[in-house]
This record gives sequence, structure tokens and C-alpha cells, in this order.
Amino acid sequence: MDVDLTCYACGATATLADGPRCDCGEPFWVETDPGGFDWPGDGDRSLWRYGDLLPGERPTGLAAGAGGTPLVRAPRLDGDVGARVHVKYEGGNPTGTFKDRGSAVGVSVAAAEGYGAVGTVSHGNMARSMAAHAASAGLDCVVLVPADIPPSRLGLIARHDPTILRVEGEYGRLYEEAIRIGRERAVAFVNSDTPLRVAGQKTTALEIAESFAPDAPDAIVMPVSSGGHAGGVWKAFRELSAAGLVETVPRLYFVQAAACAPIAEAWARGEETVTPVEGGETVAYSIANADPPSGNRVLAAARETGGGVLAVEDGAILDARRALAERAGLFVESACATSLAGARVLADRGDLGADEDVVLVATGTGFTERDVDEPAVEARTVPMADLDGAVGDLLG
Ligand SMILES: *Cc1c(COP(=O)(O)O)cnc(C)c1O
Ligand SMILES: [Zn+2]
Repeated sequence: MDVDLTCYACGATATLADGPRCDCGEPFWVETDPGGFDWPGDGDRSLWRYGDLLPGERPTGLAAGAGGTPLVRAPRLDGDVGARVHVKYEGGNPTGTFKDRGSAVGVSVAAAEGYGAVGTVSHGNMARSMAAHAASAGLDCVVLVPADIPPSRLGLIARHDPTILRVEGEYGRLYEEAIRIGRERAVAFVNSDTPLRVAGQKTTALEIAESFAPDAPDAIVMPVSSGGHAGGVWKAFRELSAAGLVETVPRLYFVQAAACAPIAEAWARGEETVTPVEGGETVAYSIANADPPSGNRVLAAARETGGGVLAVEDGAILDARRALAERAGLFVESACATSLAGARVLADRGDLGADEDVVLVATGTGFTERDVDEPAVEARTVPMADLDGAVGDLLG
């Protein structure tokens, strides 16, 4: 299968066989021809409704169930950010995060190309997602994790029976090593920002845009780590502009946890390239990438759309996570709550307008991290005979 790639930075072109990165150092993305594209109307609710903009064919199995997540209006959060709040709830994906979008496309294309094995470098959601999609497609899956991964997280990945290797050494280098070894040994590595993953993850934005069509939201606020999802969202709006389906591209805002915020720090310094950081502990562990492979592309996306990159403290993240649960009914992973925490900062700065529509991307479900910020539950115990009176007390 011929899949065309381009480099956003220098314009170089390539194909999938050339590998995921340009000689200039920046990541390639999949190039499509959006010229004749139009919204698909009724039919497939999964991400494959955008098949004309995706590599590969609509598969069967789990991959056919990725995407199609709800966009939830959250009026009780409007006051927090001084704008109309909508939440794109990616917990609605088969394994509970947007990673399923990238895994669906990556694993389907690998299967169609005759690969017997796929792989990824991840200690969390992406590993779980790849293992699940490989299980459904009948492919082997190699998951490379850091040697010191907590047992609770390893257990969730192991449910789908991939081959897990704990790798000692510098975790940041594993990305390139895996790609190199994968090419020699015919394992299709679908890492955080590799082109097929980014192509699939572009569909988060296609769905958001279609929900608002023919208008577009004014701003999208989302967490960022490697920058793979961010790159996809930016690409989607570039394609929709080219197809004449959006007049204005939303301002794209990307949020990091302050303890590990290399992209936000580069943005604050006004730089166009990201410098790796040491990186500390944060409740938003899913977005703690100290050396983000697509960091420079994230800066470009923020710059070109008039958005920005910001960092929020753990206390603000946990507070936002509670607000999403208690006032939008959405229980999200801490990493995703950075979107609301970030939007609150934007509101304080006056960057969001009262008549604007803001989409917070809640990238994953909270059900995979029960131990973070678990509240002490206070509930009265009553004999059944007293139930009537107890309910009466509650209602005042
Ligand atoms: C992977 C992940 C992110 C970050 O996405 P990148 O593409 O690495 O920037 C954000 N939230 C959740 C829940 C994730 O699993
Ligand atoms: Zn390039």
C-alpha cells in the first residue's frame, strides 16, 4: 500500500517505507487529498466515516469500533471559563482513550501490509490500546515499557496478552531504538507520533468539526505530551480548510503539567524548538514526556492557529478533575483534566470570549486510575425500616 508522507517543516515528501521522521528531524504526517472531501452524512458512526481522508480500508473487529465519541455540552462549567463549554469525551473509545483512533489505523494498515506483529513504546494507555487492537486483529504485539513501571499499570496492559519487555536504560531513547529494530525485524511499531497513529488521531478533530459544521468552535483546549494527538488535530483543520469545509480554524491551546512542561516552557520563552527537561512527578503521568518527539510541531500548531501552550499545577488539575465529575458528569483521567485547568487560566487572561464555543478534549476515562485523588466517602447507614425517614431527611 502506498502511503504518502510530508514534512510540515521543510515540505519534504516520502512514503511509509522511508520511516516516520524527515531528514530535517521533524515528524512526517500522512498526506491525503482533501480536495473533493465532504461531510459523509448518515452511515458509519466510527472514525472510518472519514475513510476518504485515511490510509487503509475500513477493517472488521475492534478497529471498526474506534472513534464516534460523544461531544457533551457542559453548561455547568460555562461559569468556570466564561464561555460555552463542550467536552469531547474520548473515554467513549473501546479501551477508554483517543489512542484507539491511532491504534485502529496503525494496526489495520500493518495487518493489510502482511505484518505478523505490531509494537509500541508506552507504559500506559497506548500500550493497552495497541495490545487490544492486536488481539482483535490476531497479530502479535510487543510492548516496551520502562523497567520500573508500577505493577498496577502493567496488569492493565497484560489483560490483552501482549509480549511485554521491561527495558532498562534511558526511556527517551527507546522510541528511536524500537523503530530501528522494528524495521529490521518486521514489527510495525506504532509509537506516539508515528504517521499512521497521527492519521488516526486526526479524527478527533474531524468529529469535533463535523459536530459544529458549517460553523467551527472558537477554541480547542487539549492536553499534550509527545504531540502526536496535537499534530493530528492541526492536520485535520488544515485538510478541512483545504476542502473549504471550515472558514476559520479554531485557536488550538495545548496544556501540560507544570512538573514536566518542556513545550510550554519553550512557548513561554518564545522559542520555535523544544529543549528536553528533567521532568518531575505529576498526577498527570500520562502526559509527562520530558523530550517530546513532536514538540516543535506543537509549537507551530499553536503559533499558526493563534492559540498557545500552557502549564498547570497538580492542585489545579485535581480540582478540574473534580469539577468535570461533579458538574459535567464526566469521570476523566487526571491528564485530561488539564484541559479544564488550562481553560480556566485562559479565561483569567481574557483569552476566551463570553460568546465563544470552547471544546475541552477529555482524552481518556478516569476508570483506569482509581487510586488518584480517591475521595473519602461519607454515607450514612440506615436500617431499612428507617429508610423512608432517611430519604425524607435528605430532601429536607
Ligand atoms: C497519550 C495521552 C495524552 C497525550 O497525547 P500525545 O499524543 O502523546 O501528546 C493525553 N491524554 C491521555 C489520556 C493520553 O493517554
Ligand atoms: Zn523536514
